[in-house]
Amino acid sequence: MKAVKSISKLFSGRKPDESNMVISSPGQVTHNFHVHPDPETGALIGLPDQWMKILSNALTPEDLKKNPEQAVQALKTFFQVNKHQSPKHLYDEEQPVEDQPISEELKPPLPPKAQKDPVTDVSRRVEVPSPKDKVEDTRHGPNTNTTVLRKRGDPSQNSEDVMTQMRRICNPNDPNKRFEKSKEVGSGASGTVYTALDKESGNRVAIKEIDVTKQPKKELILNEIKVMKGFNHKNLVNFLDAYVVGDHLWVVMELLQGGPLTDVVTETVMREEQIATVCKEVLQAIHFLHSKGIIHRDIKSDNVLLGIDGSVKVTDFGFCANVQGDEKRTTMVGTPYWMAPEVVTRKQYGAKVDIWSLGIMAIEMIAGEPPYLQEAPLRALYLIATTGRPEIPDWHKLSREFQDFLDRCLQESVDARFSAAQLLEHPFLKKAVATRSLIPLIKEAQRVLHKEI
Ligand code: ATP
Ligand code: MG
Repeated sequence: MKAVKSISKLFSGRKPDESNMVISSPGQVTHNFHVHPDPETGALIGLPDQWMKILSNALTPEDLKKNPEQAVQALKTFFQVNKHQSPKHLYDEEQPVEDQPISEELKPPLPPKAQKDPVTDVSRRVEVPSPKDKVEDTRHGPNTNTTVLRKRGDPSQNSEDVMTQMRRICNPNDPNKRFEKSKEVGSGASGTVYTALDKESGNRVAIKEIDVTKQPKKELILNEIKVMKGFNHKNLVNFLDAYVVGDHLWVVMELLQGGPLTDVVTETVMREEQIATVCKEVLQAIHFLHSKGIIHRDIKSDNVLLGIDGSVKVTDFGFCANVQGDEKRTTMVGTPYWMAPEVVTRKQYGAKVDIWSLGIMAIEMIAGEPPYLQEAPLRALYLIATTGRPEIPDWHKLSREFQDFLDRCLQESVDARFSAAQLLEHPFLKKAVATRSLIPLIKEAQRVLHKEI
């Protein structure tokens, strides 16, 4: 049951629906086989039995028949996600992609067991009235194309190298002298976050303490520090300092006392102008990162932190990748429900994966959760790969501007999908108001969740 839970956490970071989490992944997964359909039976030849079993457990024969190629790609992505039991390790660095087209004729050996468990208790979300504020237009100009500021860490480097590099970029002083740790805010796959008092400045800060020895992909942490250290933007969680303490790394950041946007989307009902406000702030961060040649690759409500003043900041830079101009990547990364179709189908992808994820996050702000959260994980991946723009709850209640905004974010065709710069000019963002309009939502979510920091 423990493994089952960790897989579900991996997929959503939300409450697990255990009835859907009965699949265990094979221990050793390689992708070096060639799948082709049997010309007589239509069955997939070359897929290990266990794989075929997993596929036919999650998907209907119609699914498999209609989109066999996407089903197999979704399965490979599913295995890659399950391989490392941590959201920080959803991808294999520079793993080659093998696209083996397979024909439509496919007859899976087992009957369908696709499960759907609806029950999304949206009704418990609270409507919070707030004043109508107007805000000055702070939209960005057009994207000034990408510049590579740093080279990506060599994935082959060993942990000694990583520790050496880490020490080099960290503050050599003893953080215990400067910071007084107090409450634990929460813990994630890579470590635990505490609030602390900075005795020098008198400010409260957040400290993420990471046991480096327990990190399978240490270069990701290095990546996170480098990105956080290199950039300063009002919509990114600001990095203050980093220290190596024994085997632990302390990352000192500004404290965002409003908690993650996830708390707001799950516990309150957001109005369009509040959604537009969050979208605008997050887009400013995405635009900034893209303009520096960085793709975030894990945009979702859990990675948007709110200040108690309503400020909106993007965090979790471990997945970030450099891109140069139109350079495309093929590594599988992100959290499945927010993944762009081109990532699930393991095609080359670029900066616009962040725009798709933003569209999914906008759906979270409408519905409290991303599409397919109630589906079995593999089926969710399959649906992302085959559905295009997902069905959006209460679509007819949304303004034309919001509908169009969602449409531009959730284009399956990457070329048709808008860039961050284009979206910042979108009429929907004219509805954005001052970020302080988010304060009532933050307070309500904290009250319901008993989470005041
Ligand atoms: P991962 O290790 O994949 O990042 P995670 O995102 O679940 O997993 P952390 O990033 O370690 O975990 O964060 C743990 C908790 O601390 C989360 O609830 C997060 O919202 C909170 N948190 C993280 N950074 C800050 C911050 N600067 N201010 C306030 N809370 C924070
Ligand atoms: Mg995190």
